[in-house]
Amino acid sequence: MTHTSRKGFHKNKSACCFKKKWKTKRYLRDVDQIHVDMKPAEASKLLNQAVNYDLPGAAQFYCLHCSKYFISNFALKEHFRGKPHKRRIKELKTEPYSQAEAERAAGMGSYIAPKTVHVETQPLKPDSEIMEF
Ligand SMILES: [Zn+2]
Repeated sequence: MTHTSRKGFHKNKSACCFKKKWKTKRYLRDVDQIHVDMKPAEASKLLNQAVNYDLPGAAQFYCLHCSKYFISNFALKEHFRGKPHKRRIKELKTEPYSQAEAERAAGMGSYIAPKTVHVETQPLKPDSEIMEF
């Protein structure tokens, strides 16, 4: 019957991946946007944000590379050890794709492979600087 054949569709592997790919609820920022954020001027701005009670942890515990707020220094520390963060760091180690690279690949000028960028997890705030909320 049509009903039973339809039922299987949702368990379809490709349908599942498709769904995951387009999930936007937890979507934060793109890797190239984070490359902009990683510039020292932007980074210090983001890491030393003013206390904002609308944001988790009053915006005091921010992961620069994942553009995520955490509720405490402990949560941030745990996040640094986690898989999503490590995956993100790895992703950030390759230079973002640029128009210049596209032109080089198309035979204009000599092709230079994208550089690897040295990415390191931001230092944790010392305990003395931490305010409890
Ligand atoms: Zn992170």
